[in-house]
Amino acid sequence: MGTRGRQIVGMDVDQLLAALNSAYADEWLAYHQYWLGAKLAKGPLRGQLVAEMEEHAEEEMKHLLLLAERILQLGGTPLLTPGSWMDESDCGYTPPENPIAQELLDENIEAERCAIDAYNRLAAMTKDTDPATYRIAVEILRDEIEHEENLETLKEDLHLLHPQADGSP
Ligand code: FE
Ligand code: FE
Repeated sequence: MGTRGRQIVGMDVDQLLAALNSAYADEWLAYHQYWLGAKLAKGPLRGQLVAEMEEHAEEEMKHLLLLAERILQLGGTPLLTPGSWMDESDCGYTPPENPIAQELLDENIEAERCAIDAYNRLAAMTKDTDPATYRIAVEILRDEIEHEENLETLKEDLHLLHPQADGSP
């Protein structure tokens, strides 16, 4: 823990740690959802989808590191058990039970939208109270916005290729 680093935080540090640990749980679940999805993916544009999912998984792992470091700086402990990830998560986990490209895209777009909302809230919460966490929240938010956009673009390409296959108008 960094003593002065913790003292300068202008909000309830326990509340901040709870928000950071909830994001930490989301990132593990997002990592796994992408990592396993990339192994199971089937269907049109599979190669592109797998490449995108593997890249996103790697970036979710980077987010985990940023969050774990910030939690430790503030004197907290990153969640100790995988079981607690589901309990503390904001965005939950959608198992890739039907791993066709269209389904995986929809599930992961949904997860990214939830992540965008969560980091937007974390940024708003810390904007005037904790510049160090604010900077991390904005950095991750930018990645999540890019993730959503990457997946939506792939979904559009898929629709152009197979107009009837994804249920879009
Ligand atoms: Fe992330
Ligand atoms: Fe993401």
